[in-house]
Amino acid sequence: MKLILMERKTDGPEVESFMFKPDGPLTWKAGQFLHYVLHHEPTDGEGSDRWFTVASAPSEGFVMLTTRFPSEKRSTFKKALRELKIGDAIEISDVDGDFLLGAADNSYVFIAGGIGITPFRSILKEALHERKPIDVTLLYANRDEHITYKEELESIAKENPNLKIHYLISPERVDEAKIRELVPNIDKAFFYVSGPEPMTESLGNMLKAMGISGDRIKQDWFPGYPAE
Ligand SMILES: Cc1cc2nc3c(=O)[nH]c(=O)nc-3n(C[C@H](O)[C@H](O)[C@H](O)COP(=O)(O)OP(=O)(O)OC[C@H]3O[C@@H](n4cnc5c(N)ncnc54)[C@H](O)[C@@H]3O)c2cc1C
Repeated sequence: MKLILMERKTDGPEVESFMFKPDGPLTWKAGQFLHYVLHHEPTDGEGSDRWFTVASAPSEGFVMLTTRFPSEKRSTFKKALRELKIGDAIEISDVDGDFLLGAADNSYVFIAGGIGITPFRSILKEALHERKPIDVTLLYANRDEHITYKEELESIAKENPNLKIHYLISPERVDEAKIRELVPNIDKAFFYVSGPEPMTESLGNMLKAMGISGDRIKQDWFPGYPAE
């Protein structure tokens, strides 16, 4: 299946979103990801395929890919992606992933590291569309003040008073003390962690060490990014 590029939107100096229209029927659940193939020459050792979260909610009717373009040492895949023009196509396959919202009456803690915010945007947008005022504490760690989706998240929070957003700008970090300070219901909440692989891994271990059982922790690992 192919996606056709309809629109691009920059979000800060390094982040850009690509809005695509599928050339056939495509369904996904909020929080899932797609496998992309972008043929280009020459190709570096990382090859011509990647996985990206579908950052748009199913109810939005288009596929949004949001990614960071590092200012240095960009992969050939990212260079080719950045060169896409409106109307160009990119191949996709394999909608997958179990980073999905559970019961709407659970309490959730979403922990995002930088571009790891993508599945949370989809989940929060979809919950709003379905008129589910889910109880979420979002801890959003970022390297600087360029917060991807900041306005959108805040407008969702205006409509869903149960969504509380806390930004942690580097050198501030998500650690046990911050979680104990900012999360009201640690003993019941379901923790979802999404971001660079090293950060997601270490936060998962930290949550377990805090006594949160594995069945209340979900992780979405993004390879290819150092820790935020
Ligand atoms: C399920 C899933 C969902 C994902 N969703 C998203 C998403 O929504 N948005 C998104 O941007 N990415 C997402 N990713 C990650 C994405 O697939 C790429 O791995 C990532 O964007 C890095 O892209 P790149 O390899 O083209 O490197 P670039 O972004 O061009 O460069 C990354 C920089 O990091 C270095 N680097 C490369 N590999 C590693 C590594 N393993 N560890 C540390 N540094 C490294 C490179 O040398 C370069 O300097 C997802 C991955 C998975 C598995």
